[in-house]
Amino acid sequence: MNRSQFNLLAVLAILIIVTVSCVYRSSRNSAPNNQSANTIKPEETDAPKPDKADDNKKSDKGDFLVKHLEVTNSRYNEIDRQIKDEKLLEKAADKLNQSLILPYDINLITKDCGEVNAFYDANTHSVTVCYELMEHFYTVFRSDGLSDEKAYDKMFDAVRFAFLHEIGHALIDTYNLPITGSEEDAADRCSSFINLTELGEDGVNAVLAAADAFAIESKNTSSNKRNLADEHLLQEQRFYNSLCMIYGSNTTKYAYILDDQYLPKERAVKCPQEYERTADSWSNLLAPWRKK
Ligand SMILES: [Zn+2]
Repeated sequence: MNRSQFNLLAVLAILIIVTVSCVYRSSRNSAPNNQSANTIKPEETDAPKPDKADDNKKSDKGDFLVKHLEVTNSRYNEIDRQIKDEKLLEKAADKLNQSLILPYDINLITKDCGEVNAFYDANTHSVTVCYELMEHFYTVFRSDGLSDEKAYDKMFDAVRFAFLHEIGHALIDTYNLPITGSEEDAADRCSSFINLTELGEDGVNAVLAAADAFAIESKNTSSNKRNLADEHLLQEQRFYNSLCMIYGSNTTKYAYILDDQYLPKERAVKCPQEYERTADSWSNLLAPWRKK
């Protein structure tokens, strides 16, 4: 990875405040920017939807498949090479494929998109993480005073949270999961659930990094620029929800989160039950689709 490139970008990005209007979204009707030139064709759009009533007879007809698309902006060549060399997507796909039954293939893609985003596209059954989002996270952490190396490491942690948020959208759509309340919040909870229950310390670091990014982004966004009609929760709420999931998962181990600057006691007291309910809900929803 050429970090000097990111250093230059960090300076630029501080001058030009990045507005993240639709990070981690689910795309059902509209194609994201720049998709026509570098996209996965909807080859599986005729695949049947799973039968919700057929809970005990799920058959495995698909896999999470990694698709490497060509980078169109050369400044992302290095990060693209590193992700391919370290097989980050392949490792994620392997873990997911070992765990979950799928009724059709779901594509996992990293590429430059022309926008700061990560998204699930229900038409092409694709989860895409844009290199611009990774660059954004790096810039966010650098703007908060982290060293080049720490910002870079934390960027990967935050991206893991964003990636699993999009996997949450993919699972909700693919399995026709019932969601009461906001799907965006459910996707955040799915990411926290998978991170905290299955990925050990890496998972905790992912949720912590996302919480930090939400907090820093909220400081960088003036209140009159916030769109209260947006389907996502406010960054401040995502910050507290993420911390609540971590603290609730183990109140002894993560007691250090209990702090007025982080998680106030008034909220923290409810977090063990909140975490348990989230974990039970996602466990039950995914149970019919788990491989033995
Ligand atoms: Zn989302």
